[in-house]
This record gives sequence, structure tokens and C-alpha cells, in this order.
Amino acid sequence: MNIPEYENQDFSKIEQFAKRSGDLKSLSMNDQGILALCLYLERSYKKQYNNCPKLTLITDDYSIQNVARLLEISTQSFKYKGIKKYIQWEIYCKTCFKIYNPSMFGKECFVCGDIIKRRPRKRRKRKL
Ligand SMILES: [Zn+2]
Repeated sequence: MNIPEYENQDFSKIEQFAKRSGDLKSLSMNDQGILALCLYLERSYKKQYNNCPKLTLITDDYSIQNVARLLEISTQSFKYKGIKKYIQWEIYCKTCFKIYNPSMFGKECFVCGDIIKRRPRKRRKRKL
């Protein structure tokens, strides 16, 4: 695939944000392409028109919604409720509860060999 320069920048930005949230492994190249297109369209609309309506990405994919939120792209889901707030994923083994780096998502656990999953990281409650 031949990607113009402006899109390369967008792709690295998307990758950076998706790494931070733990979504990178769940985003296909097509998913990233959709987000890159949104960034590109917003930029070119801003250039062309002063008062353009904000672009909304319609998707039911939680990872796309999550990364879109970080990129300040507004999203709307059509079938499901959609995410209410940004999710920081925790990559873990559901069998032995070992916590992993996001790049391990979908691979085998070193300890027990189960497939590594993810779950929304819980906010720590303050002790009173
Ligand atoms: Zn394990």
C-alpha cells in the first residue's frame, strides 16, 4: 500500500495513542485507516471551510471508539450503547492473573499458556 506523507503522520499518531490505551493489537490496518481518514478529513475541512460541522465517526468497535476519543474525533455507535468514557485496558491472563505489557495481547501466557486477554483497568479507590 502506498500511503501519502500526510497519512503516514496520522498513522504514527494513531499508533502512539493506541499503544497508550492498550488498543493497538485490536486495531486492524483498516481500523487505523478509518481513523487516519477522519484526521485527514477534519484537517482538510478546516482548511477549506471556516465553519464546518464536526465530523462524527459511526462505529460499534470499542477499540476504534476508544482511540478516536484520544484523538478528539467524536463517535457514535448505532447498535450498541458505545463507550461512556475512555478505557485504559489492562492486559492480563484470566487464568493466573499475571499482568502483561499491551504488546502481549492475544499471545500465550508465559506462566500457564492460556491466551492473554484484556479488561478495562479499574480506577483505584482511595482509602478513607
Ligand atoms: Zn497465565
